[in-house]
Amino acid sequence: MNNGEIIAWQRETKARELIKKMENRGFTAHYAVNSEMARKLVLDLLPVVGSIALLGSQTMNQIGVYEQLRQSGRSLVDHATQTKPDSNPEEALNYKRGIFHAAAMLASANAVDSEGRLYNIDGIGNRVAGMIFGPDSVILAIGLNKLTATPQEAWRRIRQIASPLNNKRLGLPNPCIRSGRCHDCQTLSSICNYFTIIDRSKPEKRIKIVLIGEDLGY
Ligand code: SF4
Repeated sequence: MNNGEIIAWQRETKARELIKKMENRGFTAHYAVNSEMARKLVLDLLPVVGSIALLGSQTMNQIGVYEQLRQSGRSLVDHATQTKPDSNPEEALNYKRGIFHAAAMLASANAVDSEGRLYNIDGIGNRVAGMIFGPDSVILAIGLNKLTATPQEAWRRIRQIASPLNNKRLGLPNPCIRSGRCHDCQTLSSICNYFTIIDRSKPEKRIKIVLIGEDLGY
């Protein structure tokens, strides 16, 4: 085995162990060694009919799912491309509420602990609300860089890694974009308002996870 193969072996071994724990929590879970395989898995998991909600996810962007769906002609709830630039805040919020009528939603998670629990941080709560009580099918693509050893490390990851990077991506005027770390800013422009942990999928198999053996998203 060369070095690349040895690293790939370790990632897949860790993922297979995690998948068993996720399945015990009612999730369905799959492993993709790379982005291409992950894109195919995610697209195969989609329901055949109904609209698909695309929630903010750099991982889904990176593996090419969103681009493919935008070219597919399927009915989408896609805030990133379908909200008109001149929409007022109420129109934009109502559009986002469309995820609750979609057949499926796509997103990622900000962290996963070694027992298979999912951790997220959200600005207005549309993404986490959809995961918990939204469409009948929730499909999450998660790079193994988001796997943490403990719940404490998962909480630290979402606040100290995921959020400052998302602030930087969005160009928000919050203190984390100067220092690269969270200052618990309590500002109106904070995107750190809803912190969630998903312990199980209920109904069982509603939440479908594709773990990917690459570093993806934040
Ligand atoms: S709480 Fe404020 S400082 Fe901390 S990551 Fe969120 S926006 Fe940045």
